[in-house]
Amino acid sequence: MQFWNKEAETLKKQKLRELQLERLKKTLRRVYQKVPHYRAKFQQAKVKPDDIKYLEDVNKLPFTTKEDLYVDYPFGLVTLPIEKLIRLHTSSGTTGKPKAIFFSKKDINNSAELIARCLVMTGAKQGDILQNSMTYGLFTGAFVMHYGAEKVGILVIPAGPGNTERQINLMRDFGTTMIHITPSYALYVASVIYDKGIDPRRDLKLKRAYLGAEPYSEETRKKIEDMLGIDIYNCYGLTEMNGPGVGFECKYKAGLHIWEDNFLMEVINPDTGEPVKEGEIGELVLTTLNREAMPLIRYRTRDLTRIIPQPCKCGRTHRRISRILGRSDDMFIVKGVNIFPQQIEQVLMSIKGVAQNYQIVLESYDEMTVKVEIDRELFDGKIERLIKMKEEIIDKIRSATMVKPKVELLEPGTLPISEGKAKRVIDNRTI
Ligand code: AMP
Ligand code: ZN
Repeated sequence: MQFWNKEAETLKKQKLRELQLERLKKTLRRVYQKVPHYRAKFQQAKVKPDDIKYLEDVNKLPFTTKEDLYVDYPFGLVTLPIEKLIRLHTSSGTTGKPKAIFFSKKDINNSAELIARCLVMTGAKQGDILQNSMTYGLFTGAFVMHYGAEKVGILVIPAGPGNTERQINLMRDFGTTMIHITPSYALYVASVIYDKGIDPRRDLKLKRAYLGAEPYSEETRKKIEDMLGIDIYNCYGLTEMNGPGVGFECKYKAGLHIWEDNFLMEVINPDTGEPVKEGEIGELVLTTLNREAMPLIRYRTRDLTRIIPQPCKCGRTHRRISRILGRSDDMFIVKGVNIFPQQIEQVLMSIKGVAQNYQIVLESYDEMTVKVEIDRELFDGKIERLIKMKEEIIDKIRSATMVKPKVELLEPGTLPISEGKAKRVIDNRTI
């Protein structure tokens, strides 16, 4: 089976646009009627749902930001009475309070439907065994994937993160064929598999992994793929839009399909709010087109990406985005230069001898220190090898970022291990 829902996934472009417009209009009428905060924002922008006649009119509508989620917290943007809500998920907020997202029965079912499309798109099918090593709980990551996999008929092991030894035992005992995990934890698990002398190609049945919840580079994908002998698929989502399954790679691993019958996507210049030209990098803005309990209109994700307009070889008509280049919030400035942690990760993961873990420490605006774990045997060899390694890292980071870093080489196991989203940047600057 190549498609979970072939008709929806290969809808002709024109039909897809018509469906988007119809769903957009319905969503707008719904929030205008039921959510005073949206009505007030629309009135302020002097726009009514009926003014939206074409998809291009979407830019007449006001944006929704994270701050809007705190207005009349927590039920302010909900369009259904409480007795119609069946699930709450939250994601950490910047103001201290979490962002609260509510789901109706239909929404839960739909989020699983989208994951089913995603999994089947990568070749998953009945008979596969999914080890779900994301955090179960308030976070959407594990639950949404869990329900979607069950819908396909996949056996799910609800492992949750952590207890790495147990993770590996589960893989061995039950013949896990696929794993859902953060990239930072995947790197760590892969290193433990090696340390234990397990040959993943011989001793495990792992075929593919779904990595998401945080940005990572192609170099990290390759490194884990080579270590474990598997295919890694990038899986993007955010709690505000259901969680995982908003964007997902197909077999071709060349960008993430966004389910355009469920999400209207725009890419804007984050400073001006104007659309960028198709194919240019900007902030991803999403509108839910098929959500009942808590629709979100022109939601600013702060995630930076670009649309890949060319059709995909897999035959799906839903457009793709490039991997997330970073969040506008993650960017930091050293010596006046804007840097994304991912630029540093990309360099490190391409260097032979670099192990799995690193951290960027900022003490002043003029300097960054990159702490990086390297293979243990390098410490047993000649000092010249360490000096060479350090120079290589400094040079490559300098040419990637234009800033010369301080580099500290560490033995594996020195830096804290992250089982969920990794904290890569420690910013100790107080002003
Ligand atoms: P949360 O709502 O806590 O699940 O976090 C969602 C955020 O995690 C997104 O807005 C992205 O910044 C980040 N994220 C999730 N998946 C990916 C991915 N595959 N690549 C890069 N960033 C991701
Ligand atoms: Zn494709």
